Amino acid sequence: MNKYKAFYAVAALFLLVFAARSFYQDNALSFCEAASTAGREYETTAKRDLLALMMAYPKHIEGIEKDGQIVCVLMESGEKIVYDDMKIKSFDEKLDSADIQDMMEIGYPLECIDTLKSDNCDPGRIRCYPFLHAVYGGSQRDIEANLESVDLGAGCYPFNESNGAAKALAAVFANLSDLLKKEPEVYGFVYPLSGTYNYRTIAGTAQLSPHAFAIAIDLKRDDCDYWLWANTQQGQSRLDAYPHSLVALFESHGFIWGGKWAHFDFLHFEYRPALIIKAQYSTDDSTMLTWHDGFPDTRDTRTYIDIINQAWTEAE
Ligand SMILES: [Zn+2]
Repeated sequence: MNKYKAFYAVAALFLLVFAARSFYQDNALSFCEAASTAGREYETTAKRDLLALMMAYPKHIEGIEKDGQIVCVLMESGEKIVYDDMKIKSFDEKLDSADIQDMMEIGYPLECIDTLKSDNCDPGRIRCYPFLHAVYGGSQRDIEANLESVDLGAGCYPFNESNGAAKALAAVFANLSDLLKKEPEVYGFVYPLSGTYNYRTIAGTAQLSPHAFAIAIDLKRDDCDYWLWANTQQGQSRLDAYPHSLVALFESHGFIWGGKWAHFDFLHFEYRPALIIKAQYSTDDSTMLTWHDGFPDTRDTRTYIDIINQAWTEAE
């Protein structure tokens, strides 16, 4: 090997080592950055979920506790409910045994939807049962002790008075008369009502229906209303016909609509104020300065924000 060849060989080797080293460093760095960004995003989402929950259930949540990675919601009823059990679950497992994080995970769209949701996009169909029991009653007897009769314009129906659910339903129906004056055709989507409280499980499952908690109402029934009764095309026609003003009225009082679920349930409205609040105050992640950007700045929210921040600080 002459001296020129030796020089080129050494230079090539040097370049190779240099390139490999910077490739490794760049990737190691971007892996760390990705992990820390994901960690920050997870923490922001968790805090925003908890804030929406505290705003939606003000008398039922006493505090937040963080022990290591595990965050618990301390209920007024004495229960401690885990925000995220950190288990990897299939969609069906989430339906069966959701924690609060699972319950809040799929964002509820407040805007009008034109196309049926697909796959498992069912915002609000996943419910954290320990949380619902803590708020609305631990047993059938406890739930029934919370029932209040609400005048729905075609008779009185029982609804859970806890957390203002019955009041919210009464407010929807008090405002319905104004809507019917403007859009009389809406009447045909509401009456005859199909019912509110019914202590039963969801068809084909062992899980209690939200009707068993007296936090759901079924309006006028159509044969194409439920995903198990109708095909996608029939569901889409029902979605096209359904009056958005009626949906918006329910949403403005803390109810979500089963028409925005891939597993559609058009006649079904359910009182789930935390999902509505989370959607109302959602904001663009990229421009966020604090984790609670977008939420209103009131005395109550400031108190909740302090409680949440303190839980994280104490856990550090
Ligand atoms: Zn229903």
